[in-house]
Amino acid sequence: MPHPMHDDIQEVLYSEAQIQQRVRELGAQLTQDYAGRDLHLVTIMKGSLPFLSDLMRTIDLPLTLDLMGVSSYSGINSTGEVRLTMDLDESIEGRHVVIVEDIIDTGLTLSYVLRNLRQRAPASVKIITFLDKPAKRGASIEADYVGFTIPDAFVIGYGLDWNQRYRNLPYVGILKRDVYAGPL
Ligand code: 5GP
Repeated sequence: MPHPMHDDIQEVLYSEAQIQQRVRELGAQLTQDYAGRDLHLVTIMKGSLPFLSDLMRTIDLPLTLDLMGVSSYSGINSTGEVRLTMDLDESIEGRHVVIVEDIIDTGLTLSYVLRNLRQRAPASVKIITFLDKPAKRGASIEADYVGFTIPDAFVIGYGLDWNQRYRNLPYVGILKRDVYAGPL
């Protein structure tokens, strides 16, 4: 019998209320920084969708958005391979782009996305990430806006998955070890 998702969580790192509060602060910051410019949000699927959905409604400016599919992870360990699985609908030439990411770990995914987008001649490109995990950063890459900086743990919830599950948790947590490693 399937057990409730919440029983699989060892620890809640950020509650729903903490997340909503931080997202509002980020939205206010973007509203201030992009006043007078047309903001174009490029979201990396699928983990960033809850963040995008909350963030965009806290930005008090005219904006547009587009989605990009990139795959880089399988299971709990990075395969080190980044692949474009779905391209943008629209051209970003001459536009002020903000890349919306769920989490930056090694930075491999974002380096790939940045390289790819910069070839399309946008007016500017900045990065916003919900979570930043700087411990294993290989590529020299920094986000311009960060929700929370976290230690080197595998987290799930608020868009982040383990094997495509737990994305719908409204909080961010750490999975119990026996969920992904099997019973000890
Ligand atoms: P990077 O390329 O920076 O190493 O990894 C970025 C991608 O790896 C993220 O977009 C996310 O899909 C996945 N990832 C990295 N760390 C975590 C984590 O702690 N939990 C989950 N669920 N995914 C992660």
